[in-house]
Amino acid sequence: MARRVVVVGGGVMGSSAAWHLAARGADVTLFEQFAPGHDRGSSHGSSRIFRLAYADPFYVGLAVRALPLWRRLEEESDTGVLTLTGAVDHGPGPATGALADALTAAGRPVERVTPEQAADRWPGLRVDSTAVFHPEAGRLHADDAVIAFQRAAERRGAVVRHGVRVSGITLRGAGAEVVTADGEAVGADSVVVAVGGWAPVALAALVAGVPALRVTLEQPAHFPAADPLSWPSFIHHGGAGIEPVDGIYGLGSDDGVKAGFHGIGRVIDPDHDDRTPDPATIRALQDYAERWLPGVDADKPSVVTCLYTTTPDHDFVIDRSGPVTVLAGFSGHGFKFASVIGELAADLVEGRPGADRFALGRPTA
Ligand SMILES: Cc1cc2nc3c(=O)[nH]c(=O)nc-3n(C[C@H](O)[C@H](O)[C@H](O)COP(=O)(O)OP(=O)(O)OC[C@H]3O[C@@H](n4cnc5c(N)ncnc54)[C@H](O)[C@@H]3O)c2cc1C
Repeated sequence: MARRVVVVGGGVMGSSAAWHLAARGADVTLFEQFAPGHDRGSSHGSSRIFRLAYADPFYVGLAVRALPLWRRLEEESDTGVLTLTGAVDHGPGPATGALADALTAAGRPVERVTPEQAADRWPGLRVDSTAVFHPEAGRLHADDAVIAFQRAAERRGAVVRHGVRVSGITLRGAGAEVVTADGEAVGADSVVVAVGGWAPVALAALVAGVPALRVTLEQPAHFPAADPLSWPSFIHHGGAGIEPVDGIYGLGSDDGVKAGFHGIGRVIDPDHDDRTPDPATIRALQDYAERWLPGVDADKPSVVTCLYTTTPDHDFVIDRSGPVTVLAGFSGHGFKFASVIGELAADLVEGRPGADRFALGRPTA
């Protein structure tokens, strides 16, 4: 008999897990509390950066694994989700140099670009240091990717149910019982919990060793620009003379050029707290755009809000405890890996070991 798996959470991670599990023959039901395309979690909107460039070879390797799986998803769902436009990293030399070194060590193409060359190639960006460009990067369409995972999962036999909130998960023998807010009880051999910013509450009494998870409200903005879809993605690494010192990311999208600060938002309870954007942060983004993004209209930001769920070490939580597989703590940089994270989840459900790096109970201090 097929393994019965309930996936809780229909963001990008739960949807990818549902696809991989259904493709391996599991009997999958996914419960998502909100309607398709909702904007209350972390996976909505028109864009996320895909890139191979990390200073840490572990993440370069993970992104390299993710790339062909995005292409497989596109084939199985008949939906385009990933456009490679390349990525520009600029800012202090040690930060960008480490990225170039890691890409070279992994055998991936990368170039160093002078400020003059950068001005010719990307006139919308102001670059005042040697930049690093790698072509295997670009834009994932976030909403389309979630739809594609769910469509591909359904084509493989999964049942995807929106508007169903899971109110309890109880361990029963080697499996579990999942109860919805409407009182429906579903038995499962395995449960994948991929609930984004709801993880601190959902996991508290369910599994041990969950690192401290910090849920924050982030607020990037789209700025009007000519031909935004032609822009590369970019990261301006922080340092002296750059505000904020933690740097800024951005990319072109259907909605304009998106730019945002990484992980500076206020802590939020996703069910109860107000989500009004902070005016001072909007002003700071406009100031940044005026100075560093000559290709956008800095006077017309259109702000979006989104949740980060951040671990102390910024590594993810992808691990299993009994019948419960946890996908959590994607720390503002998980989307690009979603295609492979579903595969890691399916491996765990089938009893294969996970990476120590992502383990429950790891030291994170
Ligand atoms: C502003 C912003 C920019 C980002 N930019 C990038 C980027 O450029 N590149 C990148 O790689 N990553 C990026 N990320 C990170 C990436 O988007 C997230 O890591 C990823 O979307 C997390 O997905 P998730 O499935 O874990 O969470 P979510 O998308 O929040 O999904 C969890 C789902 O679970 C549902 N749920 C919760 N509780 C229940 C319940 N009890 N019953 C049923 N359903 C439930 C929720 O409704 C939600 O839909 C960004 C994030 C933000 C916020």
